[in-house]
Amino acid sequence: MSGERPLLEVNGLKKHFPIHGGVLGQAIAKVYAVDGVSFSIARGETLSLVGESGCGKSTVGKTILRLLTPTAGEVYLAGERIDNLPAARLRPLRQRMQVVFQDPFSSLDPRMKVRDILAEPIRNFGLAHGRAELDQRLAELMDKVQLPRDAIGRYPHEFSGGQRQRIGIARALAPGPDLIICDEAVSALDVSVKAQIINLLADLQAELGLTLLFISHDLAIVEHLTHRVAVMYLGKIVELTDRRTLFADSHHPYTRALLSAVPVPDPTAKRQRIILTGDVPSPINPPNGCRFHTRCPFAFDRCRVEEPLLRPVGDGHLSACHLEHAPGGQVVPMAA
Ligand code: SF4
Repeated sequence: MSGERPLLEVNGLKKHFPIHGGVLGQAIAKVYAVDGVSFSIARGETLSLVGESGCGKSTVGKTILRLLTPTAGEVYLAGERIDNLPAARLRPLRQRMQVVFQDPFSSLDPRMKVRDILAEPIRNFGLAHGRAELDQRLAELMDKVQLPRDAIGRYPHEFSGGQRQRIGIARALAPGPDLIICDEAVSALDVSVKAQIINLLADLQAELGLTLLFISHDLAIVEHLTHRVAVMYLGKIVELTDRRTLFADSHHPYTRALLSAVPVPDPTAKRQRIILTGDVPSPINPPNGCRFHTRCPFAFDRCRVEEPLLRPVGDGHLSACHLEHAPGGQVVPMAA
């Protein structure tokens, strides 16, 4: 993975939504949904974007996909800048970037058989010549997502939730994309089905060398799938590191609070639960200084006035906090 340019590069991405009001319907405020987010994903890598509901993670995904137009920042796919492409040039982009949404039922047309759902992107992008080649591709897609080939003649409502999500994954795979964005792709599923879909995604990722951006509010889910994790809070990334470091040696107090809520498989192992007080502040009027200071148990004066930068705290490990993590687990204020 090293040496070559990352498949996806996101630099200083912002997405602000104007709020209109007043007599003339003019913009009276903004929602700072995504406010300066940067990361990259190597080809064949999975990066998870995690955080509570409303932190902006899904907006990041939609803005990369150009379902939303970015307010500022740059996005590159395989070295090509895509955030400023005119509408006429978005079509080839749709082939290279696909998405799997949370609710497969609402994202699959109930009037279409699975065959037509999967054939549509193959036809749209001219990926099969003739009926035999199309049938072969459809059969391969059903195999890849471990659904029986003869189920291709059924409608979405004839499948369980997990099976429908397999169809959603097959549809995302159909055009042979470089990148798949999974937006809360397993959140609506039962626990056991969730695990099956996570395993399927992990297998497909390994088999096909897929690049995945996995968006989830649940850190426990990403642990078995991801290479690296970026943690978001109120429109910004507060910590980014590899999976092992995140789960064993996270630095940011927000990440630690999220991790403390993740169930530990060993019932004899103890993990101190960090209960965050207060609600997530409004992204219309985010707090000054560190955006997390209104809920952070370690906040001190500097946190209320100075925004912490995302800075290296280890090999490939970034954290945005005014605290220093000294050896031995001590946490002390960092010199300004
Ligand atoms: Fe907490 Fe301050 Fe660090 Fe923000 S900068 S996470 S408020 S200690």
